Amino acid sequence: MNNISIASIPSPTGREQKKIQFIKQKINEYGVKDTSIDNAGNLIVKLPSKSKDISKKTIWVVAHTDTACDSGEKVIIKQDEKYIFGHGICDNSTGVTALLTTIELIINNNLEFPNNIIFGFTVGEEGLGAKRGMKQIIKDYGKQIDAVINVESHNIGRVTNQVIGQYRFKLSVNTKIGGHSFRDFGRPNANVILAQIISDFSSSKLFQLKEKTTFNIAQMKGEGSINAISQTATCLFEIRSENNRNMEKAKKTLNTIISKYKKQFSDISIEINVSAEVPAVIFPSKHKIYQLTMDVQKKLGITPKINSGNTDGDVSMTAGIPTVTIGTSNGWNTHSMDEYMEKKSLAIGIQQVFMVICSIISSY
Ligand SMILES: [Zn+2]
Repeated sequence: MNNISIASIPSPTGREQKKIQFIKQKINEYGVKDTSIDNAGNLIVKLPSKSKDISKKTIWVVAHTDTACDSGEKVIIKQDEKYIFGHGICDNSTGVTALLTTIELIINNNLEFPNNIIFGFTVGEEGLGAKRGMKQIIKDYGKQIDAVINVESHNIGRVTNQVIGQYRFKLSVNTKIGGHSFRDFGRPNANVILAQIISDFSSSKLFQLKEKTTFNIAQMKGEGSINAISQTATCLFEIRSENNRNMEKAKKTLNTIISKYKKQFSDISIEINVSAEVPAVIFPSKHKIYQLTMDVQKKLGITPKINSGNTDGDVSMTAGIPTVTIGTSNGWNTHSMDEYMEKKSLAIGIQQVFMVICSIISSY
């Protein structure tokens, strides 16, 4: 199996079934009978352990099958000596290829493990799919999952143990009083107050801390005309952080700033309407799932890089399940039609995936 065969079948988010069926057929050909499609459309492949030990664990190995863009009826794939070009060639055809190779090796060599392995080829990971395939797996099996190995496309060496916290809201300022720009000058102006809040917040030291905390402002809107004092102003606000304490500090900083302006202009209202709130989750890098992963990487001469991500792994980590996300290749311009990957990275990437899976399943 190679990643060109996988990438050649279009599978934009929401239309993965042709690819899912192809993968299912391959796995059946390897001799695995227990394959099924769940309510979300995920392909589930069970390789139960023959061990009689009642304390045996169940480890899930997942890879998403959807691609971020829609390349139409046909995916155009080109290659030169070093690289392969094509949408989805890296993300996540390399991860899917690594899982297929692993299953084939386990079956062909009658490899046996003390713990159960369940493979999940997921749908709806990208964009508006909002990881719905993985959410279905956690809903159906949550309490019976002891650990998750999430196999992603790029880059080799990543060891993702964190979910980035997210706080999204609409910020609205309403002064309840407008006026003439010249005659009534001095009355509160909603546009100015909103700009001041943003300015005060952006100069906070929070954004220089070691654990990354960021913010973004979009769609600033203020009412009024050129000669009228604006009464209302709004913007969309997003704060992200790798650390919940820093997220709390950011929220507190914002609230202190808001209180200051409320005091300064006693009659105005400043409101926050939250649209999304996701806590940051960090599993300690000394947890055995990461240590086993990094041991394999070091043996292969790969430099491990602990990081945060935005993948199917977020869903299981948020559910409290130890999860490691690793990469299978080196790729660029993923999530675009100009995606490409480095050919030679795939062999070591697949070797790494196989060895990480075997190591974790054997000694978890
Ligand atoms: Zn991906």
